[in-house]
Amino acid sequence: MVSLKSVGKVYKYKMQEINALKAIDLEVNQGEFWAINGRSGSGKTTMLLTIGAMLQPSYGEVKIRHRNIYTLNDKERTNFRKENIGFIFQMFYLIPYLNVTENIMIHQQLRSDGNYVSAMRSLTEQLGLEHRLLHRPSELSAGEKQRVALARAMLKKPELILADEPTGNLDEENSRQVLQYLQDYTKSGGTVIMVTHDRSANEYATNTMNISN
Ligand code: ADP
Ligand code: MG
Repeated sequence: MVSLKSVGKVYKYKMQEINALKAIDLEVNQGEFWAINGRSGSGKTTMLLTIGAMLQPSYGEVKIRHRNIYTLNDKERTNFRKENIGFIFQMFYLIPYLNVTENIMIHQQLRSDGNYVSAMRSLTEQLGLEHRLLHRPSELSAGEKQRVALARAMLKKPELILADEPTGNLDEENSRQVLQYLQDYTKSGGTVIMVTHDRSANEYATNTMNISN
């Protein structure tokens, strides 16, 4: 499903070279839930962005479904990402002036795409958001915000969800919930790659790995 062969990233910063990610190998199969651990600065976000078709590695090869994503041109790669990958971040990244429904449907040009309305409704019920549909992000708890971000990532049922410290801003109870939803997603055939410095998340994963640079 996802294959990294000796993937690395060297950032050029002023006169310096920063080895953010060093020669990572990874093989992820469909239905697996990966927790990738590393301390702050170990290259977790860099790794996730390269898997997510958002950051070209300096060397190595990233394949998703046997497709070498960095041989696609920009437009093809953007389309590939939109079709196949959902993202969840520590900071949620919801649009402040849109309500819950609109945030979840953001990639479907808001309400213009009726096909996703019923999927949105069942997701919000499943995630316990059905009574918050007209709230804006500032009117939600942190746990609710992350569940909105989950619904947004899951709406298209992408085969791959990438999560960058998804529990970083949540208390224990909300962290457990989010991890449980991610685990449920993999049990129904999705694939999740999560990077986190929170080792207690490992117990939800099928596979774990440590990275350092
Ligand atoms: P993590 O997510 O594990 O905290 P990052 O992948 O964000 O780590 O960063 C890895 C290293 O690369 C850090 O030392 C960071 O300062 C550096 N870094 C990250 N992004 C850039 C960038 N765009 N330019 C230069 N250095 C960067
Ligand atoms: Mg990070």
